[in-house]
Amino acid sequence: MPVCPSGASSHTVKNGHIHNGKQRFKCHDCGRQFIEQRRPASRSPYLLSLITRPLRLPVYEWLKSW
Ligand SMILES: [Zn+2]
Repeated sequence: MPVCPSGASSHTVKNGHIHNGKQRFKCHDCGRQFIEQRRPASRSPYLLSLITRPLRLPVYEWLKSW
C-alpha cells in the first residue's frame, strides 16, 4: 500500500476507484482519502531499492521515519 500523503503513515487500505478507474486509498490513521501518486523511478531511488533488495528491514518502521 502507498504511504499516506501526510507522510506519517503506511497504514492505508484500498477504498474503491475514482471515475477514471484509478485506485483510491484511505489512510486508517488520519482518515484522508487519496489517489496513489506515481513518480518516476529515477526520482525515487529509495523506492527502487525497496523493490530490488530482499526485504530484510522492518519496512513499517522505515516508512514511518521517511
Ligand atoms: Zn494519514
